[in-house]
Amino acid sequence: MENRKQIVAGNWKMHKTYDEGMALVNEIISKTHEGNVQVVLGVPFIHLKGAADLTANIPYISLASQNCHEKESGAYTGEVSADMLLSVGAEYVILGHSERREHFKESNEVLSKKAEHAISKGLLPIFCCGESLRIRKASIHVDFVANQLIEGLFHLNKEAFAKVVIAYEPVWAIGTGETATPEQAQTMHQDIRKLIEKKYGGQTAQNTTILYGGSVKPDNARDLFSQTDVDGALVGGASLNADDFVAIINSF
Ligand code: PEP
Repeated sequence: MENRKQIVAGNWKMHKTYDEGMALVNEIISKTHEGNVQVVLGVPFIHLKGAADLTANIPYISLASQNCHEKESGAYTGEVSADMLLSVGAEYVILGHSERREHFKESNEVLSKKAEHAISKGLLPIFCCGESLRIRKASIHVDFVANQLIEGLFHLNKEAFAKVVIAYEPVWAIGTGETATPEQAQTMHQDIRKLIEKKYGGQTAQNTTILYGGSVKPDNARDLFSQTDVDGALVGGASLNADDFVAIINSF
């Protein structure tokens, strides 16, 4: 029997000033309560400490950063380390978001190092994968996503891999208002789980949380969450509005 966490994670990207961010955290706190879902707020780096103070006594809300460097420390101007993130309350780190892959040229190779380093420090990766429209139209999306996971994560041993949350985010559905159908999401999530089973065994596969991301909104969340292998969502746009985000959380 599976024993996996259900998670609704927000990815704020590069939105909200500090004060606006704290107001949003407070609003989310006031409109949610403890349930079966872990809520993760993927806030900008500078919001982490303030958000951690506000959520310190709220066990069902965790914080994520949106990136982290693969090295311990050093002369890497502008970068942020896992230790720094942990010191201001991050528990998760979003890695390999398609925007980081596209705009910052993050490869599977560098992501494999980031994942390994984050886990070694105790940060839990939310590892993003997903295909572009071109890849989907060519019907090679299953192999493409498998390759992202094999190159990005499958060097991890079983114990380390157990710390990973996977987010399947078809690039054509991110910020476009176009969502994968519940069936498309389920099919890919099932394929991902089978791939994990082949590498790490059935128990690990059943315990791995696999989130869907790509224009999740209050009106489509319930159908997506009703799929057997969809364990929650990584939410971009709708996570910036407390009512929409809370409605998605309540869709479980
Ligand atoms: C995302 O940024 O991870 C995302 C899924 O964005 P949106 O929900 O806006 O499509």
